[in-house]
Amino acid sequence: MRMRLIAVVGAGWTGSVAGRLLAEAGFSVEVLEKTGVVGGHSRAETMNGVVYEPNGAHIFHTSNAAVNSFVNAHGLTRPYDHKVLTEVYLSPDDDDRESRLLSWPPQVSELRELPIWPSVERELASLPPQPAGDNFEDYVVSMMGRTLYDLFIKDYTVKQWGRPATELSTRFAPKRVELRHDGHRGLFRDRWQYFPPNGVNEVIESVLSAVAVTLHSEITVDDADDLAQSYDAVIITAALDDFARRPGELEWRGVEMVSRYRPTDDLRGVLTPAYVTNRPSARVPHTRTVETKHATGQQIGGTVVSEEMPGVPRRHYPVLTADGANERRNAELADEIAACFDIPVYFAGRLATYRYINQDEAIADAMAVAERVAADLAG
Ligand SMILES: Cc1cc2nc3c(=O)[nH]c(=O)nc-3n(C[C@H](O)[C@H](O)[C@H](O)COP(=O)(O)OP(=O)(O)OC[C@H]3O[C@@H](n4cnc5c(N)ncnc54)[C@H](O)[C@@H]3O)c2cc1C
Repeated sequence: MRMRLIAVVGAGWTGSVAGRLLAEAGFSVEVLEKTGVVGGHSRAETMNGVVYEPNGAHIFHTSNAAVNSFVNAHGLTRPYDHKVLTEVYLSPDDDDRESRLLSWPPQVSELRELPIWPSVERELASLPPQPAGDNFEDYVVSMMGRTLYDLFIKDYTVKQWGRPATELSTRFAPKRVELRHDGHRGLFRDRWQYFPPNGVNEVIESVLSAVAVTLHSEITVDDADDLAQSYDAVIITAALDDFARRPGELEWRGVEMVSRYRPTDDLRGVLTPAYVTNRPSARVPHTRTVETKHATGQQIGGTVVSEEMPGVPRRHYPVLTADGANERRNAELADEIAACFDIPVYFAGRLATYRYINQDEAIADAMAVAERVAADLAG
C-alpha cells in the first residue's frame, strides 16, 4: 500500500508530538512551521548567555503517566518544585516599601499572621460549602471572600483580561485559583514536575528528530488545494482566525515579556524574590515578573528579568467569556476551514481548539489526534 502523507501545521508541542507519533506509526509526516524555530510558545531563548523565556514562564507539570513517559524519553527529567510569590499592599496608603510577599495560592497559615486576618476570618466563616457563581468574580469571592479577592485577584484579572471579572467565565477558575488550608506551598499538585536546564527547546528538538520539518512555511486556508494534492490528511495547530485569514474573528489576550539583561555580583545572583512573582496591584502595569534563572540554576554572571505586560495584540490566551460566544465562533471557524479541504482536517492544541491548556494537555491532545488520524487513515 502507498505510504500515507500527513501535513502538520505548527511545530509547538502539539504539532511536534503528533508528528513524531504518526512518523513512528509508519506515516510520512511533514511539519510546517511559519517561524524560523521550533518549540512554539514554550520556547526559551538566551540573552548574553542567560536562559530566559520570551513567551512567559513555562513549568512542565503533569499527572498523566503516558505524557510523563513520553517526555522522559525525550530528556525532560530534571525535577523542579514551582513556588510562586505575590506582592501585595495591605492598605492603599502603604508605600512601595511596605509591600508584602505572600505565597500564591494564598495560604491560610500565612494570612493568620496579617493585621487583616480578623476580617478575612469573618468572611471565610460565612462562605458557602462549595464555591459557586455565574461569573469569575462571584465564583472566586465565594471561594475566598471579598478581602482576599481584592488583594490577590481583582486588579490582576482586570490587567490580564482587559475587562471586569464579572464578564469572565467561571470555567478556568477551579484550575487557576485556590485558597490553601493544607500548607502545600508548591503551585502545582501534579505527580511530576520538571524544568530543563536550558528550557524545553532541546526536548522538542528531540521529539522532532525523526520528523521532516519545514521552517518559514506559513500555511493558511488559501493553501487548501495544494495540501490536498500532496497529503492525505492535515492536522492544524494554528489559531483558526489567523489560519482562515480572518483576523479579529476571535478574541485573544496577548502578553509581551519586557526582558532586560542585568548584571549580578556573582554567578548564582538573582534580582527578584522568585522565578515567578505575581504583581496584582494596579500600581504597576505588569502582572508578574519572571526570572527564569531561579529555575534553571544556571551559574553565570548576570540574569534576565522579564515583566509580563498584558493586553498586547498576540494570540496567547483565548478569552472565555461567561456566554461562551468565542468558543462557539471557534467551532464554526473549524467547520468552515474543514469544508475548504478535500482531505480530512484535524484540529488540536491550545490555539486551534481555543482552550486554555498547559503543555501536558497539549501533548495529550497530540496523542489523541495522532491516534484518531492513524485509525481513520487505516480504515
Ligand atoms: C504566558 C503563558 C504562560 C504559560 N505557562 C505555562 C506553564 O507554566 N506550564 C505549562 O504547562 N503551560 C504553560 N502555558 C501553555 C503552553 O504555552 C501551551 O500549552 C503550549 O505551548 C501549547 O502548544 P501548542 O503546540 O498547542 O501551541 P504553540 O506552542 O502556540 O505552537 C503553535 C505553533 O504553530 C505555529 N504556527 C501558527 N500559525 C501557523 C501557520 N499559519 N502556519 C504554520 N505554523 C503556524 C507557531 O509559530 C507555533 O510554533 C503558558 C501559556 C502562556 C500564554
